Amino acid sequence: MEARAWVEVDLGALLQNHRLLRERAGQEVIPVLKADAYGHGAPPIARFLEGKGVGRFAVATLAEGRALRQGGVRGEVLVLGSLHPLEAEEALRWGLTPSLSTLEAAEALAQRARTLGLLPRAHLKVDTGMNRVGFPWEEALPALRAVEALGVRVEGVYSHLATAGEDEAFVEVQRRRFQEVRAALGEGYFYHLENSMGLLLHGGENARVGLALYGLVPGFGLRPVLRILARPTLVKRLRPGDRVGYGGEYVARGGEWLATLPVGYADGLPRGAVGFVRGPGGELCPVAGRISMDQTTVLLPGPVGLEAVFEVLSPDFGPTGLLSWAEARGTIPYEVAVHLSRRLPRRYLLEGEVLEEVG
Ligand SMILES: *Cc1c(COP(=O)(O)O)cnc(C)c1O
Repeated sequence: MEARAWVEVDLGALLQNHRLLRERAGQEVIPVLKADAYGHGAPPIARFLEGKGVGRFAVATLAEGRALRQGGVRGEVLVLGSLHPLEAEEALRWGLTPSLSTLEAAEALAQRARTLGLLPRAHLKVDTGMNRVGFPWEEALPALRAVEALGVRVEGVYSHLATAGEDEAFVEVQRRRFQEVRAALGEGYFYHLENSMGLLLHGGENARVGLALYGLVPGFGLRPVLRILARPTLVKRLRPGDRVGYGGEYVARGGEWLATLPVGYADGLPRGAVGFVRGPGGELCPVAGRISMDQTTVLLPGPVGLEAVFEVLSPDFGPTGLLSWAEARGTIPYEVAVHLSRRLPRRYLLEGEVLEEVG
């Protein structure tokens, strides 16, 4: 790949994160690959983890599940959220495992499965306090019985924490409710409850993990796995009074070295929130002027050639890391991650070797 700007995903770091989380859980950790694996690229990550023995993945939509199947993933693909009755046939055709939180969806799934001659399998979603999707936890047993009576094979039962990392007392309320559900429904189902923060702060349960898998939680020995790299398309020296970029916001004192990097907010750089990139020697280079859709201008300590490589997004928690971008933007790292670099080519590395290139 002779790209001028590209994304690198370190699969070794991803695997380490997964192992660390699995040790912490002492149970199964389902990689959550929704929103194209939080911007990291879902099919390559699923293929890699499947090769390492991971047998179950979670996504948010049928289209995301289909992308995994088309990408060669054979393991269980759980579609989170709540199946819409109109989606039953597609879920069955692609061998995806839907989540049920209504009887209408369960009926549609059972009926379409009969027509197609396929086995309807699902996880039951139970609402323990988030009030978004799921059968109410107090009614989990009759819901399970009703779904099973329709002929649906319920393989798993799960709930989602609303306040992990924010309100531990309410997390405990949800955990207790989920334990009651579990006691009422009995063994023989795969129960899962924790998300990243729930697992990191608590552990000991089956978990569905996104953010922590991508290493975007500081302080637990996890490592971010994604970098954005770019080579300058132009390097020049500014004259006094030169103005840079839209609005001419940066005004040169004169004598500064400026590099133009071919990445912008269309690649996921949050406009107004990227203060620095790392220069070829690891030095911090301040962004000069506004970030454009496709280009970003930065100040250099001195001239560099066009082959120089800048680290626009670093796999760490420093000023060029994704958490700094999110903080400067006043948002959560999830939002920045899912808007990353749809159009940049991606390189998947394991111990320095390129395993796969996309785009
Ligand atoms: C997104 C999602 C997760 C993963 O959450 P993280 O905080 O990224 O670990 C788990 N479960 C459900 C239902 C989700 O929608």
